[in-house]
Amino acid sequence: MAESARNETNGEFASSTPQESGERRRPALSPSRASDFKQCPLLYRFRAVDRIPETPTKAQARGTVVHSALERLFDLPATRRDRTTAAELLTPAWRELRAERPELAELFADEHELTEWLASAGRLLESYFELEDPRRLEPEACEMRVETELESGVLLRGFIDRVDVAPTGEVRLVDYKTGSAPRQFGENKALFQMKFYALVLWRARGEMPRQLLLMYLADRQSLAYTPDEAELRRFERTLDAIWQAILRAGRSGDFRPNPSRLCDFCDFKPLCPAHGGTAPPYPGWPEPQRETATPAGAGE
Ligand code: SF4
Repeated sequence: MAESARNETNGEFASSTPQESGERRRPALSPSRASDFKQCPLLYRFRAVDRIPETPTKAQARGTVVHSALERLFDLPATRRDRTTAAELLTPAWRELRAERPELAELFADEHELTEWLASAGRLLESYFELEDPRRLEPEACEMRVETELESGVLLRGFIDRVDVAPTGEVRLVDYKTGSAPRQFGENKALFQMKFYALVLWRARGEMPRQLLLMYLADRQSLAYTPDEAELRRFERTLDAIWQAILRAGRSGDFRPNPSRLCDFCDFKPLCPAHGGTAPPYPGWPEPQRETATPAGAGE
């Protein structure tokens, strides 16, 4: 999802940039980019193909810092995972993010604004503690990178905030929501994302997650969802269809705008023909070098 700057690096065309080897990795589908395409093919093009930089926001940066603080919290022994320690993790998380992306410092006019913003991140962490007690949990992984290839050849890739495994072996996928996107739009998108991860985990490890848990920190609410096999099979077909549609649009360059109320949140509105703008010339589909083990149609 596009709610955090962290997620901006998770899109599939992180794979289309040249790697150190000089080769281009095979494009894959991530939940954020699949959602983008479903919402508006032109939005997908601007983000994933043109890769036009978007203006970072304080809310995105806050999401990144809160996710990072929670990840660091679970690196600590369970007995140390309290509110005070969590709050102390925010500043180092911000310093690390600012070192990676110095331009984010410009989000704040002065030290006072930065302090206020860190306090707002602290309130989200406070909310987290209202939802669960991290001292009672021992996650298998946080910020876990997952990747798998469907039978159809579609490559799926993304990051799961947290994977919990019960003593009985049941797996739960957890996602923290820190954004302020309208709930009616955000919830379907969040469930789409969680089904995506459930499918990746199921296909990669053969384990069907028992529960998908969305934690809305700003609202202090959790949404639990239990996937079933038939539903994930249907979802798999949906992802296949989305990827085929992306490939068709990618080859033809025909990424149509799909105006909606979400245009108000779109950074590309000034470039969008649906709003009187002019899109830049289509740069072409980022063809990676062919991989020998790649089933036909996947990484093209
Ligand atoms: S402004 Fe709306 S229609 Fe245009 S690219 Fe953005 S989301 Fe799509």
